[in-house]
This record gives sequence, structure tokens and C-alpha cells, in this order.
Amino acid sequence: EDVINKIAAGEIIVAPVNALKELMENSVDAGSTTVDVSVKEGGLKLLQITDNGSGIEKEDLPILCQRFTTSKLQKFEDLQTIATYGFRGEALASISHIAHLTVTTKTRDSECAWRGHYGSGVLVPAKPGQSPDPKPVSGRQGTQITVEDLFFNVPTRRRAFRSPANEYNKILDMVGRYAIHCTGVGFTCKKHGESSKGISVSPTASCLDRVRQIYGASVANELTEFETKDDQWGFKAKGLATNANYSTKKTTLLLFINNRCVESTNIRKALEQTYASFLPKNGHPFVYLSLEIDPRRVDVNVHPTKQEVNFLNEDETIQAVCEHLRSKLAEVDA
Ligand code: ADP
Ligand code: MG
Repeated sequence: EDVINKIAAGEIIVAPVNALKELMENSVDAGSTTVDVSVKEGGLKLLQITDNGSGIEKEDLPILCQRFTTSKLQKFEDLQTIATYGFRGEALASISHIAHLTVTTKTRDSECAWRGHYGSGVLVPAKPGQSPDPKPVSGRQGTQITVEDLFFNVPTRRRAFRSPANEYNKILDMVGRYAIHCTGVGFTCKKHGESSKGISVSPTASCLDRVRQIYGASVANELTEFETKDDQWGFKAKGLATNANYSTKKTTLLLFINNRCVESTNIRKALEQTYASFLPKNGHPFVYLSLEIDPRRVDVNVHPTKQEVNFLNEDETIQAVCEHLRSKLAEVDA
């Protein structure tokens, strides 16, 4: 039973950045306007996320890390929709099976914050001999999730991480992506105990500002805004894409489908093809693309880490987006 849970967890969380992404999405879903990330040893030793969102009710703490515990069910019409958004109540459960997890949380109406420690899906004592019940602590509204010693009980996986610096860079990259997409949220990301921050952005109205802060002025200054929708294929698309004055050695694609950061090899290829006629040979674009499609059309389950997506009418949708982008680029180029 526990072995199965561990294996299942290891398929959802394959690296610290997967845990970080899930926790960040939870913070954003909770309506937070600040999300602060602190990391030790690339997230393997410590991954801590502090938000100022809704908080979690004390009575929900005992079941928080059970599989399929989600408070996000009632908002959606059917199970398919829920699975599609990644609302499956598996993230915290998974993390608790392969790390030491501490949750400190306060809702607006609670008089104090509550702290619980978790192992293998259930509340556990902070120290041997103590009660596992959540303890009252002082704290502000919001939630702090602390993940320690990720993969401590999966030594083969743990040993596979040769470079904490590499894992930290993946975390910075992911925080940067969400910072571009969630402009109303302030984000910081730093190494634990250090004062200098890898990322520090306050809430803004401008996506372009975020690109400037995170990717630099050279990218931001050559961006074209685009926005289109298509009733036939049922999608809305908007974003920022570099024009013909900017190119790099490798394509940067920040892709969000229904507000989740995902990967799509098909979209990446189509964009590269679109740019082939605008950029010099071996030149590649920077593209931030936010796609909204009927969630029932998305299948995020093709890859265990839920990164690579496919969806219904994918070819037609991609073609329509690229066609729009091509005409925008031609305008700017002219
Ligand atoms: P899911 O996001 O799919 O619902 P998770 O395992 O990621 O499942 O989280 C389980 C539940 O815990 C969420 O549905 C939510 O109710 C609660 N939760 C987790 N993180 C936070 C947070 N940062 N703020 C408020 N509630 C949270
Ligand atoms: Mg979640």
C-alpha cells in the first residue's frame, strides 16, 4: 500500500520544480496576491511557499493530504472538467508520501493560525510522543507550505539529482513563467537564508512589465501583443511574441492553457515554422501564449507530470493561432 503510494507520488513529482508548480498553483487558486518561494539545495532540502490567500479551514486539516481531497469540486460541472484543470486533490497527498510536509494556515475568520505536520497522507506528530493534532500558532491570513527532504525515502530518485543549482534554475524559470501569466500576483523567489532574490516582482497590470523584469529589456522591447478568438474552434488566445528584430539560439515558449503552465510539442513546432519566414536562419522567437479552450477538450493525462497536453481540434486551433500571429508579424515587419 505505502509502496504503491510512493511510486504513484514519484510519477507526479519527478523533480522539485513539479512540487513547486503544484504549490504555486494552489496559492494562486486561493486568491493570493503575494507568493513567496524560498529554496534550499535546489528544493531537495527545503521548498517553502508562503501566500496570503484564503487559508485552509482547521477542520479540513486532518484530510488535507488524503488523495482526492479537493475543495475545488463544486465550482466545476463534471469530473472530466476537474481532471482537466489538474484539480484532483493529488498534489499535497503525493508530496506527503515522499517528503516531510508542514502546513501553517489561517483563514480570515480564524483567531489564530494552525500548523500540522504530515507524512504518508496523514497528520503526524512534530516530535515522537506528541499528538498529531494541529497546533495553534500565531500567523497572518494565508498558507505556508514547507516541504523538507524531498525524496528522502526514494534514494534512487534522490541520488539522480547531481546539481542543486540546476534544480534551482528550473524553479526560478517556473516562478518566472507564472509571474508573466499572473500579473496581479507579486512573486519572490530566493535561496533560503539569503537576502538577495532571484525573482522579485510586485503586482502590476502589465504583462510586458513582467517580461522586462524577468527576461530583460532586449526581449521586452521587441514584443508584439496579439489577441484573437475563434468561435468555430472555440478558443481564445492572447499573448506576446517577438517580432523580426529579435531572435535567440533557442525558442522560449511560455505556454498556458486554461491558466496552467504546460508544454506542447505541436504548438512549439508550429510557432517555429511560423517564425521561419520572419527570422534569420537559426534564429528563434520568444513567445508567451495564453490559450483558453473548453476544458472538456483538454487531455492533460498523456504525460504523468501533466506537462505535455493534447486537446481536441488541436491542429485547427494551432493553425488559426499561427495564422493570426503571422498577420500580426507581417504588420510589424512592414
Ligand atoms: P487540488 O489543487 O487538485 O484541489 P491539492 O492536493 O493541490 O489538490 O490541494 C488540496 C486542497 O488543499 C485544495 O483543493 C485546497 O482546498 C487546499 N489548499 C492547498 N493549498 C492551498 C493554499 N495555498 N491555500 C488555500 N488552500 C489550499
Ligand atoms: Mg493543486
